[in-house]
Amino acid sequence: MGGAGATALHAGCETHMKTIISVSNLTKHYGSFEAVKGISFEVKEGEIFGLLGPNGAGKSTTLEIMETLRAKTSGKVVIDGFDLDQQPHEIKKVIGVQLQTSGFYPGLNLRELIEMFGGLYNQRVDPLELLQLVNLQDKAKAKYKELSGGQKQRFSIATTLINKPRIVFLDEPTTGLDPQARRNLWELVKRIRSEGTTVIITTHYMDEAEVLCDRVAIMDAGKIIAIDSPDALIDHLVASGFERPKEMKKANLEDVFIHLTGHALRED
Ligand code: ADP
Ligand code: MG
Repeated sequence: MGGAGATALHAGCETHMKTIISVSNLTKHYGSFEAVKGISFEVKEGEIFGLLGPNGAGKSTTLEIMETLRAKTSGKVVIDGFDLDQQPHEIKKVIGVQLQTSGFYPGLNLRELIEMFGGLYNQRVDPLELLQLVNLQDKAKAKYKELSGGQKQRFSIATTLINKPRIVFLDEPTTGLDPQARRNLWELVKRIRSEGTTVIITTHYMDEAEVLCDRVAIMDAGKIIAIDSPDALIDHLVASGFERPKEMKKANLEDVFIHLTGHALRED
């Protein structure tokens, strides 16, 4: 499960991995409603960290606070050594946030959009190189609205990389995608991590978290109720005596689907 990061964690190297995000006692109130109820966690440099949980758990709120896009109620957030309260502008420089590309500048093609965002970030960026990374090199002259769902998500992820961030935040990047497009996006996330970038991803797909994340925090109703590697969480459950009601087959329907229809993307 997971990648190199997970292996390193299992080898007991946690103490050698640098903490790149530290969240302590974070709360967020919307009026009298407590959406985030005092959560604490750390993210290590170079890992894919998952925030899991059902709808309404508080994942997006937590993510947007770390992204400096939403004000917290209380608690402490430190990102790459910068305190959210003191140096939000420094944080903005080291993080990649999915920009809202839909609806904006409908006249621009993908290449032009990247150039424009590069200008906003004051970054020199090679649009074709970036499009190649997300496998959209053939779509450089296409408009955003002409892309399939998977292509839109990959473009959106490309925009997070424009400022060469140390940390990328992805909020449910695979929701609504077909199985091929989901797998393709997992590969992209792994590729981004393999270049040393830390990835924080939210999802409510457990299969996705299991193959992708080195560690996950499970949120429910504004609290973190478990945090560990997927393997360790599963082992813990099994050790507690849990057994599946019936023996699982060695494949599931999604395996059948992918076996029959292939891994190739069907979006063009
Ligand atoms: P998740 O991303 O896990 O689905 P959210 O962080 O979006 O959860 O939302 C957590 C809770 O906070 C939900 O009950 C949601 O309805 C509520 N919430 C989110 N944004 C606002 C807002 N701007 N005003 C009031 N309540 C909100
Ligand atoms: Mg959400």
